[in-house]
Amino acid sequence: MAKTYAMVIGGQSVETKETFEVKNPSTGEIVGLAPNAKLVDLDAAVAAAAAAFETWSQKSDEDIQAACEEVTAKIAEHSEELAQLITLEQGKPLNGLGSRWEMGGAGAWAGYTSGLSLPMKVLQDNNEGQVELHRKPLGVVGSITPWNFPVMIAIWHMMPALRTGNTVVIKPSPYTPLSTIRLVEIMNEVLPAGVVNCVTGSDGAESIGAGMSSHPDIKKIVFTGSIGTGEKVARSAAETMKRMTLELGGNDAGIVLPDVDPAQIAEGLFWGGFINNGQTCAAMKRLYVHEDVYDEVCEHLVAFAKNIPLGDGMSEDVILGPVQNQMQFNKVKELVDAAKDKGRVLLGGEPGEGLFFPPTIVADLENDDALVREEQFGPALPIIKYSHVDDAIAQANQSENGLGGSVWSQDIEKAKEVASKMQCGSVWINKHGAIQPNAPFGGVKKSGIGVEFGEEGLQEYTDIQVIFS
Ligand code: NAD
Repeated sequence: MAKTYAMVIGGQSVETKETFEVKNPSTGEIVGLAPNAKLVDLDAAVAAAAAAFETWSQKSDEDIQAACEEVTAKIAEHSEELAQLITLEQGKPLNGLGSRWEMGGAGAWAGYTSGLSLPMKVLQDNNEGQVELHRKPLGVVGSITPWNFPVMIAIWHMMPALRTGNTVVIKPSPYTPLSTIRLVEIMNEVLPAGVVNCVTGSDGAESIGAGMSSHPDIKKIVFTGSIGTGEKVARSAAETMKRMTLELGGNDAGIVLPDVDPAQIAEGLFWGGFINNGQTCAAMKRLYVHEDVYDEVCEHLVAFAKNIPLGDGMSEDVILGPVQNQMQFNKVKELVDAAKDKGRVLLGGEPGEGLFFPPTIVADLENDDALVREEQFGPALPIIKYSHVDDAIAQANQSENGLGGSVWSQDIEKAKEVASKMQCGSVWINKHGAIQPNAPFGGVKKSGIGVEFGEEGLQEYTDIQVIFS
């Protein structure tokens, strides 16, 4: 019998009458039954978070920091348990850049964020008076997360909110709610009741995410997901003038300059594109390669990719798992099928059993082919040949997205010059997607509003109050 999970509201486990099934993408088996909340449950969670805010926000900075450090320790203690649950519901393997790696990231971000602070700044102190800038918490923060990195993204949202004195209601994706529920249960072992609450819903008749975006007592939404849903969040958040951080879709380009050593960059190119099976916001989703090294880059990339073991993520030998859900699988299949008529399939191309789709590499595509133009969010990488670097930059920038990008070259100064012309929030040189807790991360254009991580990310969970005396 699959376990029935409960919401966490005001420090209590709260069951719902209705539940929905969460399935293992590797096997189709039911991993657990998740609570299918109604909007009244959301109201109860927001009320609990608002009540907890009264005391949590008044705690000293040292006490809040100490509590965040206790949360970090709890995450480390339960790391393997959470990794197993992530693999079961998300599909990514335990090993490789899989769920244990995700838990390592969650721990690193929690620890680093706990150590940050936003002390009062004196802007002026002279005969004409004193001016102080204070950072104040907002109140209840609503966190809405996607299914690709369920625990790590939950930590990215919740830890800076808590560290700055806010309380939280989190709503995970209906595809991966169980690891978030368990994470919030664990956090509640050390946090006061109501500081972190979790409500899950199936995105059916009553959308909890939509309810959060318009809720009058939620003061900020931090949302990670698709551009389409992000636009809806922004529209309904406008009515209550909510603060927002939106981390949305990406269609990151990688540009390979003619001076690279193709054998040396093959592994980095592969993981740039195929991390988490390509289901990563800042994965490399289009690769532009100079004609001088085009054939060799394709050859070495395929040679590396064809040896990656694919299978059920619970097996210790597996490095890539299935696509997470049927909708995403269909999208990848459709884009790959369309690309077959336009380009040359160098690897993969045919779906496997169930939700398994092998790493697929399609060469000789053009910028307006669908696999290049659209965010595939799956294990399929299009390669485009170019002759002049300015054309490659122009093609890379021809997108409504602007999350990340990368430049591959032995000449770092030349690579930085190309990087500066790319319209995106992060550019990596000779790697792709390597985010870190001390560097702000966010998208330009339609890839989002605001940043996460570092001091700049922390500031987004506060309002400024200036005191003139
Ligand atoms: P999605 O937009 O379908 O869902 C994201 C979340 O929004 C889920 O929890 C969902 O239940 C909720 N939701 C659904 N309808 C809503 C509504 N009307 N109002 C508010 N919330 C609602 O995205 P997804 O398929 O889960 O994730 C994939 C997308 O997320 C990709 O486009 C990817 O690029 C993006 N992503 C971005 C980042 C980043 O940091 N920029 C990180 C991870 C994923």
